[in-house]
Amino acid sequence: MKELKKYLPPIIMLLVFETVAVTLWLTKHNLFYLFNFTYIGLSVSVGVFLFIKKYKYARRITQLLVGLYMLVYLGIISNENMQIEGFWYYLFTGVFEAATIHYAVAKIFGPILFGRGWCGYACWTAMVLDFLPYKVPEKPRKKLGWIRYLTFTASVVFVGALFLAKVGNIERIMFWAFIIGNILYYAVGIMLAFAFKDNRAFCKYICPITVFLKPMSYFALIRIKCDKEKCISCGKCKRVCPMNVDMTDNSRKRENGTECILCMECVKNCPKDAL
Ligand code: SF4
Ligand code: SF4
Ligand code: SF4
Repeated sequence: MKELKKYLPPIIMLLVFETVAVTLWLTKHNLFYLFNFTYIGLSVSVGVFLFIKKYKYARRITQLLVGLYMLVYLGIISNENMQIEGFWYYLFTGVFEAATIHYAVAKIFGPILFGRGWCGYACWTAMVLDFLPYKVPEKPRKKLGWIRYLTFTASVVFVGALFLAKVGNIERIMFWAFIIGNILYYAVGIMLAFAFKDNRAFCKYICPITVFLKPMSYFALIRIKCDKEKCISCGKCKRVCPMNVDMTDNSRKRENGTECILCMECVKNCPKDAL
C-alpha cells in the first residue's frame, strides 16, 4: 500500500492528461487530441516516475520526449506554429484549435495547477538551453525582465499587421515564422547564456510567454514549500536554483516566486528533506 502511494503522483498526472485527452477528443471530434495529450501525459508521468526512482536525468527525459515531439512533429512536420505568433494567429482567426488549446492548457490556465511546469519539462527552447554549461547562474540576476514585454508586444503587432494588411497565405507565413522564430530564440538564448553565464537568461529576460506564465503561476497549487521545523538555513537550495527563487520563504510573494520551473534541484539537494 505504501509502495502504491509513492507512485500516486505519476498516476494522477496521467489521469489528468487522459481526462483532457478524452474530453477534447469527444468534444472536438478529433482523434488527434486523444493521441496528443495521451503522449504528453505518458511522457510527463515517465519523468515523475523516474524522479521518484531517483534517476538523475528524469526531468531531461520528459523535456526531450515532449520538446522534440512539439518542435519536430507538430511544428516542422505538421506545420503547427505553437509559438506565440501561432497563438495570436489562431486567436485572431477565431479558431479554437491546436495552438490556442495548447496555450490555454500549458501556459494560461494550466499554470494555476502546475505553475511553470511547462518551462521545466516541456519547452523545446529550454530543452536545448539546458544542455549548456551554466545550469546554476554564475552571475547575479539583472534587471532586464522588461524586455519580455517588448518581445510580447512585437509578436502581437507582427501577426496583427499581417491581418490588417490582408496579406495572403498567412498560414505559410506562420510556418516560416515558426522556423525563423525558433532559430532566433536558440541563437539569442545561447548567446545570452554565455554572456550572462546563465543557461536560463533567455527565460528570465526575453521570453514573451512569461507574460502569461508569471501572473498565472502566482496562484499555482503545486509549488515548492519549506518545512521550517526541518530547515537549518544552510542555503544549499538557493545555491542550486537555476531561477534564483527564494524557496525557503513560503509566501506567494517570495523572491522570484513566479519564476520557479519545478525542476526539483532544490528538493534533491536539501540535506534535511525540508522541501
Ligand atoms: S520561459 Fe519561455 S523559453 Fe523559458 S522555458 Fe519557459 S516558455 Fe520556454
Ligand atoms: S537546503 Fe534545506 S535545510 Fe538548507 S536552507 Fe534549503 S531548505 Fe533549509
Ligand atoms: S530549484 Fe527549486 S525553486 Fe528553483 S526552480 Fe527548481 S524547483 Fe523551483
